[in-house]
Amino acid sequence: MMLDFNDALKRILDQVPALDEESAPLSELKGRVLSASIYSDIDLPVANNSSMDGYAVRAADLEQAGKEHPILLRVVGVVPAGTVSDAVVESRTCVRLFTGSFLPEGADAVIMQEDTSEVVGGEQIRCLDRVKPRENIRFKGEDVEKGDLLLESGTRLHIRHLGMVAATGCAEAKVARRPRVAILATGHELQSPGEVLRPGAIYESNRIVLGEMVAMCGGLPKICPLVQDDLASTKVALRVAAEENDAVITSGGVSVGDYDLIRPAIEALGGHIDFWRIRLRPGKPFVFAEVFGKPLFGLPGNPVSAITTFMLLARPALLKMQGASDVRPPQLKGRLVETLTNQSDRPHFMRVYLNENREVTSAGLQDSHALQSLSKANAWLCVEPGQTLSSGEEVSLIAWDS
Ligand code: AMP
Ligand code: MG
Repeated sequence: MMLDFNDALKRILDQVPALDEESAPLSELKGRVLSASIYSDIDLPVANNSSMDGYAVRAADLEQAGKEHPILLRVVGVVPAGTVSDAVVESRTCVRLFTGSFLPEGADAVIMQEDTSEVVGGEQIRCLDRVKPRENIRFKGEDVEKGDLLLESGTRLHIRHLGMVAATGCAEAKVARRPRVAILATGHELQSPGEVLRPGAIYESNRIVLGEMVAMCGGLPKICPLVQDDLASTKVALRVAAEENDAVITSGGVSVGDYDLIRPAIEALGGHIDFWRIRLRPGKPFVFAEVFGKPLFGLPGNPVSAITTFMLLARPALLKMQGASDVRPPQLKGRLVETLTNQSDRPHFMRVYLNENREVTSAGLQDSHALQSLSKANAWLCVEPGQTLSSGEEVSLIAWDS
């Protein structure tokens, strides 16, 4: 039986275990998933302060001010950054401020330095313009109020969140533990890059990509040694991988050939194969299983199939294990500028290139071994069975994580 892609994804998401939580410092929060919401302990800004270099004033004093009619104010204090002043702004007086200086008592506006000139001696300034009450003041709590919900549990932290978290004084947060993910590549023919190829061999290229993809979704990749195509080696490799990690990702060995030993090894180890084969192109022979209590994602060996199925099925699972509320792949939109057809009976996730003008073209050879077109592709476009997408159509794309 071949599962529909969406059913397969649902089965996976329903079954993967949730990881426990830990506290992580700010410097380790990027890409992690919050397991508790973050509320602000303080107001932001923490106090009324100046958005300009200038002077704290009473706006009413300057109602008549203008270039032709300067108004003199006496400078009664100065507030350098990081200090507070007990000077009080009374009528006809002002206090020297800099951007961010906390506003002294009595003032209701800030006149910017450019609208003033110093009277010789520096004890007085001439104001050459009016200011409205509240002008050039950043108010306490206008950005964040004490007690505000800043980020909900289940949020995957992006760089853009971190400044706000730091600014509210939060030095650490509760996040899901990073999943440790074993990455195995199977195949007699595989050799590591850098070696001299034996006759019949090829260079192994999946582990490096899958490892980086695991890291991109918050996991800790554990790159395992190459696995030979024999049952004993495959069993040992799977056992070690499952015992020492939270999830196992394998590549290769999931088809129907004599040397496709991932499924036999799972069964021999007493594991459970939840499903095998999906209505998906590339990536039909994908396996989802459980070994020693750990989820196993058996990706096809062809590099494009391995990477596409990781993106579509393993990435959401690893995010779900971390408690992410949104596990959808990143989306982009563009305009197709050539016609693409899928004559197969499976949804085809074609590798495409979205250029700076939003134009979408095929990235080249649409075969599951074709690495140059994968290297060029910055997105996937799903073409449904029997569907023709015409040049000019607006299309939704799946993007790589960044
Ligand atoms: P398999 O899924 O094991 O039948 O492999 C399918 C195709 O992908 C074969 O041509 C393999 O040589 C190739 N292949 C399998 N694993 C890898 C890998 N880790 N790196 C590069 N090519 C691979
Ligand atoms: Mg193989």
